[in-house]
Amino acid sequence: MARRYNRSLSLDYEVRGLLNYSLSCCVNALLQSFSATTELLDILNKWHPSDAIDERSVPLQLKNALEAMRDTSHPSPHKDFLNCLYHQAIRRSTQHDADEIFHIILNLSQKQMPDDAVAQEIRSLYEIKVETQVVCSECTFIHRISNSLFSLPLAICEGENTLESCINSFFKLQELVDSDKFYCDRCDEKQPSTHEVKLVSLPPILCVHLKRFRNENGFTRKLYDKVAFPENFNTAMFAAGQSENTASNCLKPDEHYSLYAVIVHIGTSMFGHYTAYINSTQDQTWCYADDTCVQKATWADVKHTYGGYHASRFDTYPATAYMLLYRKKSSNLSG
Ligand SMILES: [Zn+2]
Repeated sequence: MARRYNRSLSLDYEVRGLLNYSLSCCVNALLQSFSATTELLDILNKWHPSDAIDERSVPLQLKNALEAMRDTSHPSPHKDFLNCLYHQAIRRSTQHDADEIFHIILNLSQKQMPDDAVAQEIRSLYEIKVETQVVCSECTFIHRISNSLFSLPLAICEGENTLESCINSFFKLQELVDSDKFYCDRCDEKQPSTHEVKLVSLPPILCVHLKRFRNENGFTRKLYDKVAFPENFNTAMFAAGQSENTASNCLKPDEHYSLYAVIVHIGTSMFGHYTAYINSTQDQTWCYADDTCVQKATWADVKHTYGGYHASRFDTYPATAYMLLYRKKSSNLSG
């Protein structure tokens, strides 16, 4: 019961703007998504750091920042967290990649967390488990490699995409032939093979990374193509991309996920700005956080970040969704 009470308290907040210090828009947008991840707040709330803890601990400063963001009288809730990141992990006054910073924050939050059980809870909250299977076409031996990801890295095709089409491509069987042949240790030589990623399990918080930056011949360009994503989806969408004999037998087919945060990139591969759409768990309404400026928004506004033809509405710097955060709806809360 106590946990439930804490939970409702942590939901009771308004999204608050964050000052941009030394191009911190990327961290600001991510902090808005962490702040909306009430499950993460619950985990950090249970942790009571000792007085001896290093002040430059990322999990400590993340906990402090998320608490301070709920204190409307706090003048700069995230300044110490930013300084902590600038001191040990990221460069000040530099454009960053939001997915990369997301990984840095989560990795350091676990690595510097003195309580192993809390560190494991943070990991479990975001961990997507997959298994890569490479089958040698000659001896048919299956090489299996287990992996875990904090975000699902989805490639984008030029033209029209949907979240489902991107997911299907990620899990699609690929032929490894010619220069891509795989070294089979059974055959002791490179052989034509098939490569396939199998989904093992999905976490309570599913982060999707839409890979809009493509490296070609030493240059990075941004893909503005359309990626339509739903506000809610069923895990059957993942099952469709999985062939038979799959490792994902433990994936329940009828679980529901709902979108609660979108990290938006505005601009080009050379320079840009990050903002976030956040859905309040309390009243299910969207709002838009652009550093200090927070305003009400609608699902129609969020859909303008699909890219593609919508992009023309945003003059020279189209705003496109870059990371999507979905929350698994627990069965006892549905309805
Ligand atoms: Zn072989």
